[in-house]
Amino acid sequence: MISVGHPPEQMMFQLSLRRRGISDQSVLRAMESIPRDLFVAPADRAHAWRDTALAIACGQTISQPFVVAYMTEQLQLKSSHRVLEIGTGSGYQAAILSKLSRDVLSIERYRTLADSARARLEGLELHNVEVMLGDGYDIPANVGAFDRIIVTAAMEEVPGALLERLETGGILIAPVGPHSGVQTLVRFTRTADGIERKELVDVRFVPALKGVAREL
Ligand code: SAH
Repeated sequence: MISVGHPPEQMMFQLSLRRRGISDQSVLRAMESIPRDLFVAPADRAHAWRDTALAIACGQTISQPFVVAYMTEQLQLKSSHRVLEIGTGSGYQAAILSKLSRDVLSIERYRTLADSARARLEGLELHNVEVMLGDGYDIPANVGAFDRIIVTAAMEEVPGALLERLETGGILIAPVGPHSGVQTLVRFTRTADGIERKELVDVRFVPALKGVAREL
């Protein structure tokens, strides 16, 4: 049978996510609907559908698709949720989140990355995502609280001030561990009694650094 609209590499992309254990249909559909090739450097377009992280501007990376899908699945998103992302990077993860939630606020410390991610998301008409230049360690009070928080850069520990941004019943997922080397993806759930912590899988992320970048 001839496929309509999806070149073979995109079909393999979906298949590899399923094989690796992503089973949430809404997550798979969101991954299918966002063209990852628009979020990578032009020279890497041919590799965009491979299951690997790729270099983007400012020495940063767009995460491996499996890790994006896995973290998204673990967030258990609902269409009513307000979501915070720390580490916009290319904007790819924010685009996936936008398909599964009400609103996304994504914070990035490099102006170059924030500006290009914003332009891509607007180009795809994903109007429920706001990209903000800022520091995930120092979030303005006026942005309020969130149902879900996803950190896509490695933190040696998750600051209490960030956990306090979670609504009761809220979930935060972050790679926790040393800046160089392997981190553990940790899921924090805010219950009426306090914070529950569950370690998920080992991952490798670029570090979360303090302050807005002084370089562009
Ligand atoms: N989610 C991204 C990939 C993130 S790479 C994507 O889908 O492409 C991690 C990003 O976190 C980098 O762009 C880095 O600049 C950013 N970052 C690191 N520390 C940060 C901080 N304190 N506040 C905001 N962004 C930060």
